[in-house]
Amino acid sequence: MTYKELLSKGENVLKQCDVPDYSIDAYIFMEIVFGMSRAVYYIKCNDTIEDEALIEQYLDMIEKRSKRIPLQHITNSQEFMGLSFYVDENVLCPRQDTECLVEEALKAIDDNVDVLDMCTGSGCIAISIKKLCDKVNHMTAVDLSEEALRIAKKNADTHNTDVEFVHSNLFENLKDRKYDIIISNPPYIRTSDIDELMDEVKIHEPMMALDGYEDGLYFYREITSKAKGYLRVGGWLMYEIGYDQGEEVKAIMINNGFDDIEIIKDLAGLDRIVKGRIIGGKQ
Ligand code: GLN
Repeated sequence: MTYKELLSKGENVLKQCDVPDYSIDAYIFMEIVFGMSRAVYYIKCNDTIEDEALIEQYLDMIEKRSKRIPLQHITNSQEFMGLSFYVDENVLCPRQDTECLVEEALKAIDDNVDVLDMCTGSGCIAISIKKLCDKVNHMTAVDLSEEALRIAKKNADTHNTDVEFVHSNLFENLKDRKYDIIISNPPYIRTSDIDELMDEVKIHEPMMALDGYEDGLYFYREITSKAKGYLRVGGWLMYEIGYDQGEEVKAIMINNGFDDIEIIKDLAGLDRIVKGRIIGGKQ
């Protein structure tokens, strides 16, 4: 079998299973299994593949993807803020949208700040901030899922970053701590919307990382009402939000005494970030 024939077989299998971006994915597996760039592929595409084991490996990846297992779970990797993160079925795959939140946090970071990443998942937010900004004094990252924390620690080790991981149900195990910035991309999908998600997300990503309960706002309410007690005066609370949650999350922050509240759009022009801070006298 030639490289071209194998790629075309992969594409056809994925196409038949309605895999979105099937030809891109079929090619990415080619790149991974045979370590070939596009240019090399075009030179060698009519050569016969000698190594049967590699053909097997390629078809095995195609089979997994045909079951709508996300590409990132098969390759165990997702790039975020220019860094590569290990991911599997225990964590939400880092999304490009979330890079806007990190960019916003990087703008707000002054010398020597203490930062908390609530609901850290793969650790992508905490680790990329710590890696890209040397002004952070202490970075704490919290998750309720022990499996997620194991992955986040692995990612922190890979990137040689100093992040303290705390197993906690929101703020429960953070008694008496104070932060200058609390950042969070919490689960925010309405329970009734979960059925509409693509299979890759609905079946293969952890429900715990997605489900924001009835109106999708449960975690914003919980985190906002408690965050006040953990922020220093002037400290920022920054959230990623769903495109239609800006005004509601803003209202939650106003009701909890936050000031300077701003809704910020992502690169697609959709509301994506809400941030606000605690000004003196309002706590
Ligand atoms: N903080 C992680 C991320 O942004 C996990 C988010 C989540 O599980 N809801 O990818």
